[in-house]
Amino acid sequence: MIFIMFGAPASGKGTHSANLSNALNIPCISTGDMLRAEEAKDSPIWRIAQSCMSQGKLVPDWSVLSLVCNRIAEQDCNNGFILDGFPRTKEQKEALDGMLSAIGKKVTAVIQLDVTQEELEARNQSRAAEARGNGKPTRPDDDPEVFKKRLVTYGEWTAPVLDLYRSEGTKIKVINANGKKADTAHSVNEAATSVGATLKAPTVENLESVRELGSRVDKPKDLWML
Ligand code: ADP
Repeated sequence: MIFIMFGAPASGKGTHSANLSNALNIPCISTGDMLRAEEAKDSPIWRIAQSCMSQGKLVPDWSVLSLVCNRIAEQDCNNGFILDGFPRTKEQKEALDGMLSAIGKKVTAVIQLDVTQEELEARNQSRAAEARGNGKPTRPDDDPEVFKKRLVTYGEWTAPVLDLYRSEGTKIKVINANGKKADTAHSVNEAATSVGATLKAPTVENLESVRELGSRVDKPKDLWML
């Protein structure tokens, strides 16, 4: 099964791709993470990506395509994978179509995380504040001005890719992702099972929601007697 986790910056693509990857036992391929991993190698891709990322722009298609193409060819992708943050342009989608048809596969469904603009901006601010509070470095592209630019880039280049999938009849599962993480995780899992996926393992989010439900149950006062 091949899923595309689709959504604006800060919509929760990374979190919910990781949850779904855990639930379906298939790898998650995040182009953002792969690009950031190039930093340690100080590779030519990183030198180009760094400047694009810090301006809220997309990196050139060829750089992500080479990364994705090599990753998809790895053995652990044989039973399927989840794409997080890819494709983000019409050209990337077309290249992905080509790669998949070469191996006789198709996208199973696009899972779209729908989050309002206000919520996206609020999440970006709280994410940066949380990182600062924990003494962790903030992502340079989480700077409020760069983040606004990332939202514009998303609207201009990436949102239209969803229309392409819609027009060709690929299944699109729209998830209201404004609420709690556990609720969204549950809806994402449901979306995946509705297109034939089988959940393999309980996700951390699922376990958290079970715990949360447990804590809401009224305990009888004389529980000690049982
Ligand atoms: P977000 O979705 O929140 O912007 P990501 O980690 O997915 O976060 O991406 C961070 C940055 O990496 C993007 O703003 C862009 O510069 C670059 N990037 C990631 N994936 C792609 C892609 N498929 N095509 C072009 N640029 C990408």
